Order: sequence, then C-alpha cells, then structure tokens
Amino acid sequence: MKKSAVEIWEDLRGQVDFLTEAGAGFVLRPDKNGGNGEPSRDVPPGPAAPSLPSLAGLPAQTAAERKALEEIDKQVLVCRLCPLHKLRTKAVPGEGNRSAELMFIGEGPGRDEDAQGRPFVGRAGQLLRKIIGAMKFREDEVYITNMVKCRPPDNRVPHREEEEACSPYLIRQIELIRPRVIVLLGKTPTDWFLPSRQGMTSRRGHFGDYRGIPVVPTFHPSYLIRNEGNREIKRMVWDDMKKVMALLGRK
Ligand code: URA
Ligand code: SF4
Repeated sequence: MKKSAVEIWEDLRGQVDFLTEAGAGFVLRPDKNGGNGEPSRDVPPGPAAPSLPSLAGLPAQTAAERKALEEIDKQVLVCRLCPLHKLRTKAVPGEGNRSAELMFIGEGPGRDEDAQGRPFVGRAGQLLRKIIGAMKFREDEVYITNMVKCRPPDNRVPHREEEEACSPYLIRQIELIRPRVIVLLGKTPTDWFLPSRQGMTSRRGHFGDYRGIPVVPTFHPSYLIRNEGNREIKRMVWDDMKKVMALLGRK
C-alpha cells in the first residue's frame, strides 16, 4: 500500500540516529510539488511536513517526553547530518524550560554561541534576553533555540539543505515541548514556518499556525542592533511581543 506523506516523514525522522552514525548527508522531506522532485526556489517551501498531526489539546508532557528532549540535545552535540558540523566548535541544541509556554526560534548560532554551546548569548542574545524580561518572563521560563544548531560560516544565512537536515530536531523539540506560542526571530525561521514573498515589515506581528500552535514573526534582535537609533522598529517588536503576552495572559 502506498505510504502517506506523514508515514514517510515519520520513517525518515526515525532514521536520524542511524544516519548520524553513518555520517550521511541530508534528510529529505515530502516536497510540495506533487513529488516530482523539482526544488522550487521561487516561493520558499513551507514548514517541513505540513501534514503532520495537530499538537493542540494533547495531554501534558510525560517524563518520557522530557527524557526524549535530553536525548535530542545529546544527538545534536554529535550530529553530522549536514556540512555545518565540520566548522563548529560546539553545537547549540537550545536551552530553557523544556515545558515552556513560550518558545523563541532564531536563525543559527553565531560566534559566541558556537564558542559556548548556548543560544543567544552574544550581543543579539543580550537584547533578546532583555526583551524576554520586559515581557515579564524569566529566561528559565521560556525555551530558546534556532533553525540550525551549528554555526554557518561567517554567520551566513543557513542553506535550505542545512535547514532540511536539521529540521527533524526542531520539529521534535516543538512536538515534545508543545509551547502555547512560538516567536519567529527574523526572516530565516519565518520563511520556514510561514513561507511568503512579502518582506518582514508586512509579515511581523501576523500570527500564523504550526500544527495548532500560534506562531508569530518579528524582527531579529540583530536587526534591532543594526538599526539602533530606529525607535519605530523597536516599537514594532514591542507591539508584537505585547500580542504574545496578551495571548499568554501576561499583560
Ligand atoms: N542569532 C541567532 O539567530 N541565534 C543565536 O543563537 C544567536 C544569534
Ligand atoms: Fe546536524 Fe543540524 Fe548541526 Fe547540521 S546544523 S550538523 S543537521 S545539528
């Protein structure tokens, strides 16, 4: 019998361990072009396996799921699924509360993150942590991670293939943490979760959906730093975060 896209995806994800050990290349996902294998570079592809089941209304996280999250961290630390492993000092799985209500997804580790093995610890990270504080959350209440877990050379934008290879980790993290809201920091995660031709200015603050979880794009903290004197950009990010706070009852 023909397998559904979901079943194929589940199979592939199950092979991540094996592939890591074997040092294999990329994990593919069902493509959106009716399976003709042609990559579409016109509109960025949507979230990996959009047909995966909803995560809304699932029971609370179990002890086994918590353990599974720790296992993911360990797998990431030794992962060789894409070429980014070759240049890394430390892989950066993510950090924070493993049953957080609020999750932030950035692009990928930078120099400081690569050196320390922790996400968002450099200049952009300090700003993100300030924003989290201003939202009346403690850093250890939220979960912070990235699209790719190893630093792209010279902080370039991760290639689509690298995102594809790394996405099973992120997808699993979301499935196991099951946050109530996800904030997408900048264009890289926004293109992945909510593909569109529009620029960030029109996309930010507009909630989308990832398998029943509200996801909202905002500007990346690095963009705020690059435009330091621009109060309008700051205000937009803060407006977006206020919506997130309202959704979580933290006005
Ligand atoms: N920028 C990101 O996107 N992620 C980090 O972890 C740090 C900087
Ligand atoms: Fe593995 Fe992701 Fe690192 Fe690539 S970026 S080596 S897929 S952990």
